[in-house]
Amino acid sequence: MKLKLHWQIFIALILGIILAVLARAMGFESFVIDKVSVLGVIFLRALRMVIVPLIVASIISGVTGIGNAENFGRMSAKTFTYYIVTSLLAILTGLVMVNIIHPGVGASITMTEIPHGLQSNVDKLSDTLLGIIPLNPLAAMVNGKILPVIFFSLLFGFFITKAPKPYKSQLTDFFQGVFEVMMKMTHFIILFTPVGVFAIIAKKVAETGVDIFIPLAGYMGTVILSLAFHAFITLPLLLSVVGRISPLAMFKAMTSALLTAFSTSSSSATLPLTMESIEQNAGASNRVSSFVLPLGATINMDGTALYECVAAIFIAQVYGFDLSFAQQFIIVLTALLASIGAAGIPMAGLVMMAVILNAVGLPLEGVGLILPVDRILDMLRTSVNVWSDSCGTAIIAHSEGENNLKVLRKKS
Ligand code: ASP
Repeated sequence: MKLKLHWQIFIALILGIILAVLARAMGFESFVIDKVSVLGVIFLRALRMVIVPLIVASIISGVTGIGNAENFGRMSAKTFTYYIVTSLLAILTGLVMVNIIHPGVGASITMTEIPHGLQSNVDKLSDTLLGIIPLNPLAAMVNGKILPVIFFSLLFGFFITKAPKPYKSQLTDFFQGVFEVMMKMTHFIILFTPVGVFAIIAKKVAETGVDIFIPLAGYMGTVILSLAFHAFITLPLLLSVVGRISPLAMFKAMTSALLTAFSTSSSSATLPLTMESIEQNAGASNRVSSFVLPLGATINMDGTALYECVAAIFIAQVYGFDLSFAQQFIIVLTALLASIGAAGIPMAGLVMMAVILNAVGLPLEGVGLILPVDRILDMLRTSVNVWSDSCGTAIIAHSEGENNLKVLRKKS
């Protein structure tokens, strides 16, 4: 009997942690950090290799599958509404929690050196937003700039549906074919996920001890509690009430993708697995998932949005700043923008903190306070990001009349 993929990944995760703990105890952590980690690098490179062609092919085939402008408009409206509503709900959860728990008040925390180039990010957000329209679509693809690639692919797919015969069907078939091949390739790479996850986790744990967590336990607890509330209460309620979907069945369907998000800290790198899980295990159509997921992996980051809000207010609390209602409102808005602008790569959220701190006049060095625990929080918020994308895809698929989803609630 073959063990299901998510069990294989889970076991790999545990084995990775055990290896790292042993390595730290017995002093061979450099072996894990330098040598074992190579397996993780190979796996991540393979995943990254498929991302751009997968996104281009999936969006173009998705949009041509959607058909006409009316369907396209309706799907886009649903998708963006879901993204904005869930991100705002996540931010509000964080806002309430951090104001109740006050983890930063009176905390004595030592500064860590802040990452280089933070200041330049303050101006970068508007560039990122404008940069959605690529000057040169091929350059965007070559450089892996996902948002402009999505934008161009959406337009390209849409105008294929406007092309005259025979080009319309030729191009539709062509991109459908490319998409099928990319999914086959993805499927093959995914078979190696347990090995990749084992190596990535072993390296992360071997590099980081647990002692740095203690002074920041209150802050970590607040972020984790808020993320848990969003993932286990808010999103399941939406699934169940709006989508008539069983949250448990959905969770089971997505476990491999969620564990991969947790270990890679990258929604983009996880995208191939998210697509495969939502189609194979949850039964959503390619027409919906190939439109909603690549967009979601890039702009819908509930976990990141929530974390930005909690972290900014935590930093204000440590510095003894009293934030007015207006300032908290600015934090909510900039957290939303930062989560849209953050790339689906590790620590993108931390880098975006500069934008928020700048907007409310907090010192940029504040990022140095939260840096030591960012890695672990990144793993958790990335899982929440992927979970929200998946829930959105299932809800939208059901609202588009897909009544044969495998995750629907049983009729009582
Ligand atoms: N690592 C996150 C992601 O890929 C982004 C972040 O840093 O918050 O979803």
